[in-house]
Amino acid sequence: MTQPASRKTESLNCDRSVESITTWPGDLLHELHHTLLTWYRTQGRQLPWRETRDPYAIWISEIMLQQTQVKTVLPYYQRWLQIFPTVQELAKADQQTVLKAWEGLGYYARARNLHKAAQVIVDQHDGLFPDTFEAAVALPGVGRTTAGGILSAAFNQSLPILDGNVKRVLARLIALRKPPSKALDQLWQLSTALVPTEQARDFNQALMDLGATICTRHRPACLICPWQSPCAAYNQNVQLEIPMTETRAPLPHKLIGVAVVWNEQGQILIDRRPQKGLLGGTLGIPLAVRLSLVKRSKLVFSESCKKNWPSMWQWAIA
Ligand code: SF4
Repeated sequence: MTQPASRKTESLNCDRSVESITTWPGDLLHELHHTLLTWYRTQGRQLPWRETRDPYAIWISEIMLQQTQVKTVLPYYQRWLQIFPTVQELAKADQQTVLKAWEGLGYYARARNLHKAAQVIVDQHDGLFPDTFEAAVALPGVGRTTAGGILSAAFNQSLPILDGNVKRVLARLIALRKPPSKALDQLWQLSTALVPTEQARDFNQALMDLGATICTRHRPACLICPWQSPCAAYNQNVQLEIPMTETRAPLPHKLIGVAVVWNEQGQILIDRRPQKGLLGGTLGIPLAVRLSLVKRSKLVFSESCKKNWPSMWQWAIA
């Protein structure tokens, strides 16, 4: 990455990092706000959940966007709102309909939590998505960054966010010399200090867009970045080394067996999988996960299956 010959603004550095953010000069914070918001006005993405202030629709988008890219989410988001246009419709739906609408997005716990949270909202909040951080974060599946994202987008509340993209941008902004997972308190402090009181909605959305489109993991486009001037990683030419990564344990390798079970009428057994675990709560042929070649695996059947197909499940396990 080519370094420009001069810098307009003193860049951030480790000394002026999170620990000392309260001493950051006001003009630096002003520049960070001004440059990012100006960039966002012309370069921000046009997304359907940005065209609404309905907290229900925004909540759905925030949950779908967890670990999932925007282009994947778009058709699901539109279809979901057609099937469940209100929180009441979602709350009264049966779980299978909810999981069917989610089919293909993965991480099914998100759909089960959306369903449970919709019932909480109807039962305990008169069908209105709560507008306080404490109540929002108490909903199933809503963590700190999701609550901040929803409340800032729907109500313009000055709350910080810290999703994966934002962690990367902030780590580079201050040239953080440790993995973000080891500096979460500091990064939350930084995000809290940065979010403005007046334009939190646009600022948070802009921060997400910056991480998704400019400050990407492998090819940060520093030369067109609105934060190039104050960015410590860019000024130290270490943007590709940050965020630092942790050594991860190898991914477990699982062997999955399936059982095709049929009865005298030629019906094939379809069972509901356990709520927790792989594809939890969905319907399908029975699965058995083996963690090793040594241990025997066991098929898992639901209680209703054991009742309706007693001889079959006993046979399948035998
Ligand atoms: S200058 Fe580069 S590393 Fe710094 S925030 Fe912008 S894109 Fe990211």
